Amino acid sequence: HAVYPKPSDTRLIAVANQKGGVGKTTTTVNIAAALALAGLHVLVIDMDPQGNASTALGIKHNSGEPSVYDVLEGRLSIDDVKQVCPDFDHLEVVPASIDLSGAELELADEPNRSELLHNAVISFLEQHQGDYDYVLIDCPPSLGLLVINSMCAVNEVLIPIQAEYYALEGLGQLINTIGLVQNHYNSDLLVSTMLVTMFDKRTLLSKEVYTEVKEHYPDIVLDTTIPRTVKIAEAPSFGQTVIAYDGHGMGAIAYREAALEIARRSEQVIKELATKRGEN
Ligand code: ADP
Ligand code: MG
Repeated sequence: HAVYPKPSDTRLIAVANQKGGVGKTTTTVNIAAALALAGLHVLVIDMDPQGNASTALGIKHNSGEPSVYDVLEGRLSIDDVKQVCPDFDHLEVVPASIDLSGAELELADEPNRSELLHNAVISFLEQHQGDYDYVLIDCPPSLGLLVINSMCAVNEVLIPIQAEYYALEGLGQLINTIGLVQNHYNSDLLVSTMLVTMFDKRTLLSKEVYTEVKEHYPDIVLDTTIPRTVKIAEAPSFGQTVIAYDGHGMGAIAYREAALEIARRSEQVIKELATKRGEN
């Protein structure tokens, strides 16, 4: 069995792409599950009002139940609302419900509106000194206050890129937007990782997209790509990650390999973040 190195500091990663359907949620829950399966302690924060990450991790998220919405509004702490994923002991989840869809408007006049999640995460991590290895945030497909909050609460962004023709076009836009977030809100933010998803090895297009993305961002694109598989698509309807649902299948193997690559790059990323902080 491969050893997934424990990072020397908690890694805080937002999984973001303004495009819907590129594999943000699938990547968040499966990377989280793979890391937890390897014995690392992981917290997933669902920041999408759709609550798809909560569903895929087997967590109930009915309207009115305690969720990340209450955390943003300052009524409850992350400790108050987090739940343990039924399939993995080391994986905890802050669920989102449809209630979160009102938050953007309700919080618009708060003076510290972009720092609400950041403050909650900081106090959570202080309470649990060094206990958590990874915090992964599943972002909604927008660029509003929920994404700003997510990007202020982390220091890394993981961008899933769907292997399709328009991938690079959207990617340029996303990098520009992250640049704006860096300038205005969080200068420590680093795009540390890109993962090509829904890769079809039978098509030339998939390979071309991979090669092109790798050419533009050679240091951060993972070698592993995630294949398009039926099991990955089916797993959420059973309230499971593909790691739990079909642990020996191609999808699970690919996500475990991607998680291993992410884990192995921890110290390099942590060093880069320290250098960046020094410069700012
Ligand atoms: P996003 O969070 O970016 O909107 P999702 O992770 O929800 O994207 O993925 C969009 C849809 O594609 C979902 O129905 C999901 O189950 C499916 N999907 C994602 N990755 C794969 C894959 N590698 N193979 C097959 N289906 C996938
Ligand atoms: Mg999603």
